[in-house]
Amino acid sequence: MSSVGSDDPRFVHRLLDKVPGMIGYWDRELRNRYANAAYIDWFGVTPDRIRGQHIRQVIGEHLFALNEPGMRAALAGVPQLFEREIVDPRGVTRRSQARYIPDVREEQVVGFFVLVTDVTDLRNAQDGLEAAQAVLEHQVAERTAELVRTNAALRETQRRLELANEQLEARVAARTGELTALNHKLNTVLSQLAAAQRITHVGSWSFSTSSGEVEWSEELFRVFGLAEGGVAPRLPEQVGLYLPDSWARLNAALELSLRTGDGYELELDVVRPSGEIRRTVARGEVLKDDQGVVFEVFGTLQDVSELAQARQARDEAAERARLATSAVQMGVWDWDVRANRLFWDSAMYALYGLDSATSVNEFEAWRASLHPDDRASAEAAVNAALAGQSKFDTAFRIVHPSGAVRFIRGTARVQHGADGTALRMIGVNWDETKQRQTELRLRANETLLQQFVVHAPAAIAMLDRNLCYLQASNRWIRDFKLTTEDPIGRCHYDVFPDIPERWKRSYERVLLGAVEGCAEDPFPRAAGGTEWLQWEARPWLQSDGSIGGLLLFTQVITDQKELELLLISQKAELERSNRDLEQFAYVASHDLQEPLRAVAGCAQLLKHNYATQLDNEADELIAHIVDGGSRMRTLIDDLLKYSRVGSHVTPLGSVNSGTAVQNALANLNVALSEASATVHVGDLPIVSADAVQLTQLFQNLISNALKYRGSSAPHIDISARSREDDWLFSVKDNGIGIQPEYFERIFVLFQRLHSRTDYPGTGIGLALCRRIVERHAGKIWVESSLGHGAEFFFSLPKQS
Ligand code: ADP
Repeated sequence: MSSVGSDDPRFVHRLLDKVPGMIGYWDRELRNRYANAAYIDWFGVTPDRIRGQHIRQVIGEHLFALNEPGMRAALAGVPQLFEREIVDPRGVTRRSQARYIPDVREEQVVGFFVLVTDVTDLRNAQDGLEAAQAVLEHQVAERTAELVRTNAALRETQRRLELANEQLEARVAARTGELTALNHKLNTVLSQLAAAQRITHVGSWSFSTSSGEVEWSEELFRVFGLAEGGVAPRLPEQVGLYLPDSWARLNAALELSLRTGDGYELELDVVRPSGEIRRTVARGEVLKDDQGVVFEVFGTLQDVSELAQARQARDEAAERARLATSAVQMGVWDWDVRANRLFWDSAMYALYGLDSATSVNEFEAWRASLHPDDRASAEAAVNAALAGQSKFDTAFRIVHPSGAVRFIRGTARVQHGADGTALRMIGVNWDETKQRQTELRLRANETLLQQFVVHAPAAIAMLDRNLCYLQASNRWIRDFKLTTEDPIGRCHYDVFPDIPERWKRSYERVLLGAVEGCAEDPFPRAAGGTEWLQWEARPWLQSDGSIGGLLLFTQVITDQKELELLLISQKAELERSNRDLEQFAYVASHDLQEPLRAVAGCAQLLKHNYATQLDNEADELIAHIVDGGSRMRTLIDDLLKYSRVGSHVTPLGSVNSGTAVQNALANLNVALSEASATVHVGDLPIVSADAVQLTQLFQNLISNALKYRGSSAPHIDISARSREDDWLFSVKDNGIGIQPEYFERIFVLFQRLHSRTDYPGTGIGLALCRRIVERHAGKIWVESSLGHGAEFFFSLPKQS
């Protein structure tokens, strides 16, 4: 055997001949270059007959015309695939599928392969399949139509079902709506109940006897002052919620109810956690089962605190009104206008002085009681009130059966019907006779006061709280020169723009109730100069006791004040000159003593040494000198004493005036015995004095009593008596006495009533006495008549 390989062309030819399909190759000129056995067989030629043959001769004219476009396309490089029904050389129609595959070498199509596959069986099988599919599709269509029908029937059933469902749902919805409405209604009723409980403060509760469980409404928590929504305490736990007494009564009532099955109603005091006590009304009922056994107790608790308080307040108000009307003797009346029936309470009868037995039951009867002068106006007032034109508030007089006239005041209220007609008139009457009389008196007083103020002989102004003038006396107008414009109605500060601030402050205090004033107050005037005023400001009160303004009383004391100031300055001047004079008198008398002593001494010596050696005339002259000298010494001594009273003062001390008298008497011992005088000294007091000056005083008065004695032996009586503020001393003699016209003069310095030849003296003695007494703040004077002795009095203030 020879070996064969794939590269052996004969092997390839043999292989290709075995392929059932036809394989051929045609060149560009459409000449056959190869055909396998099947191809050759198809055309029924020999291989030699086909090779190099043109395709047209091989496949015949008809097929060529059919296939030529495909051949051209393949030679253009486009592969072709198509099917043909061909009648083979044996006259059998076959279906073949042909492929033209271009043979491209170096980018040139040099020919094309023809591959022809016999697909007759395939196509026949395909056709059979298609027929079977058509049958199937027909069957499917039939089934589908059936299904559609069934489906439609089903849908109809479903629609009916849905309809039924809808109707059902509508019915359910309707029922649900009804239920919701019912529920809503129930809730409304429940909230109304809660609101009702809240408004009326009624809490409700129930208590199951079997379980002991307690239920409370919200309001009940509020009544107890507990947090709402809590757990209601069981009965034993409620002990602290009531006052002990209330708790005991509640328990007793509950027990009785459980036993008897009857309800209860109690007033109980509840204690809130805050400690507040509330008054409540508790009601309870029991529920029994068929066997008559109580299984539940329920009830309410109402907070009636406000009600209780209001009731109490109302009772008190009624009592107060009753007390008030009875206290002011106010009568109450009630008139049914249409029926003309008048009701009077007892106070009305008392007011009109009528007996309630003789009842006043109509308007006419009341009218009869009116004072004839007031009848018309009172009646008009009633008619106006009935017509709704005005309120009834009027005053009128009535005449008592006794004839007494009373002033009545009445107020009333009218009730009108829908059509405006008066139905009823209710009012009160009270007696204001006293007020009216007081008013009249007050008015009279006011007029009087006004007159008084205007004509008072003093400067008076009455101002209101704003310090505007209400009244001013004529004197005020004149004193302050206000004649050109009337001050009434004007403000005090406008009338007197120059009023000092301190007075304004003063007025403010007076308006608060003070009384202020000043005995001397300078008022520097804007126009120049200063007015001196004595003034007083005091508040005046209104009838209700409040301060209505102020009253000013003033006195212009400018003249007095100026005089006083003048006097003061003059006095000061006088005192100063007096002091100077005293000083001068003292110095003069003191300094005179020395030369006087020399002159007197020389004269004495002259008299003594030359008494017998000179003639009578010389002796007489010498005697004159001696006498003059001694008189001069007395004068100087007296003057010294006088001036010393004011300038050489020792402080006053407690002095026994009796001792002072004794000392004076001792000093005058010789003169007293020479004159055979008798002296009587009474009880004398201790006084506040200068001892030396007091002795001097007594001595001067006693020596004068001796000096101015009469024909009989002198008798001197010295005494003192106590008066309210001072001691009154008296030195009384039985001497020659003094004519009353000289009573003053004798106390003046150097004033004498007698010549030196009749009675020696200097005229200083009594002046000195007065000076001493005045220095002790006392007074001295004399009582006498000529020839009947003289009594000298002086006073000394008592020690404080
Ligand atoms: P003198 O005695 O020195 O004259 P007085 O001042 O003591 O001065 O008295 C003044 C005058 O008062 C006396 O001159 C006398 O006329 C009169 N007189 C004083 N005391 C008496 C008296 N007791 N009786 C009458 N006359 C008196």
